[in-house]
Parts: sequence; C-alpha cells; structure tokens
Amino acid sequence: MPRKTYRMSVTLIVFTALMSVVAFSHADQASPFRIVATTTQVSDLTRVLTAGIDQPIEVESLMGPGVDPHLFVASAGDVALLSQADVIFYNGLDLEGKLDQVFEQMNRIGIPTIPATDAMDEDLLLQNADFAFNYDPHIWFDARQWQAVTAFLRDQLIGFLPAAEAAITANAADYLNELDVVHRYVLDQAERLTEIQRVLITSHDAFNYFGRAYGFEVRGIQGASTTSEASVADIQALADFIVEREIRAIFSESSVSSQTVNALREAVRDREFEVTVGEEIYSDAMGDPDTAEGTYLGMLRHNIDAIVTALLGEHSDADE
Ligand SMILES: [Zn+2]
Repeated sequence: MPRKTYRMSVTLIVFTALMSVVAFSHADQASPFRIVATTTQVSDLTRVLTAGIDQPIEVESLMGPGVDPHLFVASAGDVALLSQADVIFYNGLDLEGKLDQVFEQMNRIGIPTIPATDAMDEDLLLQNADFAFNYDPHIWFDARQWQAVTAFLRDQLIGFLPAAEAAITANAADYLNELDVVHRYVLDQAERLTEIQRVLITSHDAFNYFGRAYGFEVRGIQGASTTSEASVADIQALADFIVEREIRAIFSESSVSSQTVNALREAVRDREFEVTVGEEIYSDAMGDPDTAEGTYLGMLRHNIDAIVTALLGEHSDADE
C-alpha cells in the first residue's frame, strides 16, 4: 500500500472512530437538565425534590454558606453559570435585591426565573416597607410556609421534568412529613421558655415569620435588609430594652458581620448588665454543605437549640 494511501486510511479510521464516540455519547447521555437556585435554602429544597430521579440533572447553588443575599452582586462567572441554566429558582420578594437586572437579562435569552415566594398566600405575608414589594421576604423560618414552597416547587419541577413525576411526588410527600416533624420540634423547644423569655434579638430583622410561628418577640439590630445600617440610637434603645426585660442572650448570624452584636453587648455592659452572645445562628444562608446545618431541617434544629439554650442561661460564650 502506498504510504500516502495508508496515512489517509488511518486518518479515516481515526475520524470514523471519533465520530462514533461522539454519536454514541450523544445518544447515550442526554445533556443534564440544569437548575440554578440562588439561596442555600432554595437549592437545598430543589436537591431534596429531585433526589434519585431517573434523568440527568444538575442543581447549582448561586450563593454559598455565609453569603448575604441582600448584598449579593452577580460576578461575570455567576452570569455565565446562570446563562447555562434551563431554569432559575430564587427566593423573591426582593431578598436578592441586586439581581433584578440579571434576571431580566436571563428572561430575554429565554431562561425562566421562578420565585419560590410565589407559593405564598398573600394574606400570610408580613408587610415590610424596607423591600420593593412591601413584604418581608424571610418566609423560610416558618416550617409550615416552607411546606407551601415545597408543594409549589414540586409542581414547578414536574412541569419541567414530567417523566420524573412519580419520583418528585414521592420525594415531596416524604419531605412534607419531615417538615411536620421539625415544626413540632421547634414548637416543643420553644415551650421550654416562658412567654416573657421568648425574645429573639439578632443582627438583622430576618426572624419575623419565625417569631409569628413560634411565639417569639423579635428585634433586629439592623433593619430587615442588611443594606440599612444600625444607628447609635438604635443600639442604645435596644440596650435599654435588654436591661429592662433582663434578657440573657443575643445572637449573631452566620451571614452578617457580628460587629453590631458586639456593640450592643458593650452598650448593655455600660448599663451594668450582662448579656451573652449565644451560639451563632443561621438566617439568610445555611451552614456548610457537609454539616447538619447545611440542610434546611438541620438549620432549623440548630437555631432553636441555640436560642433556647442561651435564653435559659444553659450556655455562655467562650469569650466572656
Ligand atoms: Zn435578611
């Protein structure tokens, strides 16, 4: 065989082999259905609902542990990630206040963006003038409201992945039961406190739905959005309130600087009263993915345990 012909046929064989690999991989694995969820809470729920389905799927969380959604601005890499999504799930009600334009951009290129808070009955939303839609977006701290979000996301997911309807429906049914269990757990733990002891003071006003569901009076040092700052007068007024009510503990949040919490403790000390800073709680972001607090259910349990323990004076922080 002349050398040139030999080369050509080798090339042809290699080319044919490559083409069949490409054709095979296309036929064998369809490209995964890509979901990007903004907050750790929404991505956790999306993963729970799509677990074990018989279809390739990718769920990415735009924000990680410790990230504040009120201040989150999308980087070029984030925009690239979002633009490869088949659908984007987000919290909504202006929680992700700096992502509106990015969402509009995604809608223009045909990617649907779906707010989890569309699940909520408007009558159940708390009003708050700090946000564009005049509602408080921190709905996830009432486990019953998270059940409404679970049912809503289940239906949305079935719309996109009809072949996986049975698995998604079964996942949702199991999870709704788990939410019942955690809801009762939080209620039971809260019962360990007297009504007067149930005061939750944290870095920012993220816990109003929690307060309404589980019977706590709630005060945030900053407003409901971390975009507003606490004034000296706010801190002095809260310090007076703590002394007057003899409140044992205040709490910092994993996604917000603990600076204002420390300033409040100092202001209380100036009044010859001692308030401890309880174990850090999770508000707008959950814990690390490989920990119990990295799941919604684990986060709720951690928070109520930390809150009750510190308010009962069963725990004091190490840096006293
Ligand atoms: Zn918040």
